Amino acid sequence: MNIKRLKGFRDILPAEASAVRRIESVCAEVFARYGFSEIRLPLLEETLLFNRSIGEATDIVEKEMYTFTDAGDNTVTLRPEGTASAVRAFVENGFAKSAPKARWYYCGPMFRRERPQKGRFRQFHQIGAECFGFKEPAADGEMLALLWDLAGALFIRERVSLEINSLGCREDRAAYIDELKKFLMGKTGELCENCKTRIEKNPLRVIDCKNEKCKEATAAAPSILDWLCGECSDHFSAVRRILDGEAIPYSVNPRMVRGLDYYNRTTFELLTGELGSQNAVAAGGRYDGLVETLGGPAVPALGFAMGVERLTLMLGEGFGGDCGQPVYCVFRGEEGAKAAFSFRRKLILDGIGAGMDFEDRSFKAQMRSADSSGARLVAIFGESEVAEGKVSVKNLSDGSQSTLGADEAFEMISNFYKSA
Ligand code: ATP
Ligand code: MG
Repeated sequence: MNIKRLKGFRDILPAEASAVRRIESVCAEVFARYGFSEIRLPLLEETLLFNRSIGEATDIVEKEMYTFTDAGDNTVTLRPEGTASAVRAFVENGFAKSAPKARWYYCGPMFRRERPQKGRFRQFHQIGAECFGFKEPAADGEMLALLWDLAGALFIRERVSLEINSLGCREDRAAYIDELKKFLMGKTGELCENCKTRIEKNPLRVIDCKNEKCKEATAAAPSILDWLCGECSDHFSAVRRILDGEAIPYSVNPRMVRGLDYYNRTTFELLTGELGSQNAVAAGGRYDGLVETLGGPAVPALGFAMGVERLTLMLGEGFGGDCGQPVYCVFRGEEGAKAAFSFRRKLILDGIGAGMDFEDRSFKAQMRSADSSGARLVAIFGESEVAEGKVSVKNLSDGSQSTLGADEAFEMISNFYKSA
């Protein structure tokens, strides 16, 4: 039998996994400084949760969800995103009432049945943040600063750009959509097949369609920013003032509407030119009505999610850093194997990662393993060393080597790493 993984599903092999771990830990540190705590949410939810929140006429709900009926006849869905679950958890666990201010972050897999391509998979991972309880523009400013600071901590600021927009409130959007529909009706002949059906169902999506024909046809489409009410317009100006004050670079893109129904007011995307058409590294915005939609009180909220695969594509597997084993022990003969085994374990217990081959191979072959493991020091237990209770320590960076008593060698290696 030759069973393969499903299309669009990936094995994250150790080198990439270590880059992912580093990305997660860099982000966790920044999140903690901003007061965001980790939350871990279920992968499987009632389908209705996503239909109600993301919206029936969105790509995700219409065609991308992994939905099935379980053995108990419940209709369930593998989560396509994290916000809906976070809001459900916020309401269900009583936060909405008892402590309606909260800052959460999460890391984990999401599932969307899309056409797999570079940076787009059917199981992918997001690191996301959600902030509940603040209607003030400062909360939008905080979210954007947080995202920008994550980009800083990951050293990708020079490789990304931030775009923001405002979708206004429900009333603004309704008036704008009327106007947009009128405009689009006159352009039906010039739109892609998908967008022709979107005019009725989800006209906003037409103006951020990636198809060149649609981009051209909608170049003169009305701008949502011209339809903002006084309050929404003031809110957006205040958010912009915060970004300006913090010297966070951004541009306003009135065509960025986001593909999920729950957004209002500020929306944003962190974009890169390095990943072809999968150009969004992170995206998010305000979703003030969602807590109420999902059965809670009116609690304003906002958030974003970053695509981890897109980050690892940008950062490369090398971002994972050292192998975690800076020392490698090589040996000859049965006594050498025993001495190397104990020496290696002593290093590990002292907090220094160390590796070894168990097979009594030629020094040359073991040195090759040492090299490819990424180790910087090699502890050599040859026949002559073992006979005298000694160890030779070789520095792989400069080739220098010295033979020392076993305790002395241990001290030397230990100091080498502790002072590094
Ligand atoms: P896109 O325009 O790329 O489809 P989206 O608007 O569907 O993105 P969101 O739902 O806002 O994206 O998700 C936030 C982030 O998650 C995206 O910016 C992207 O980095 C990542 N992401 C979304 N879908 C996928 C996928 N299928 N594979 C890998 N990463 C994804
Ligand atoms: Mg998408």
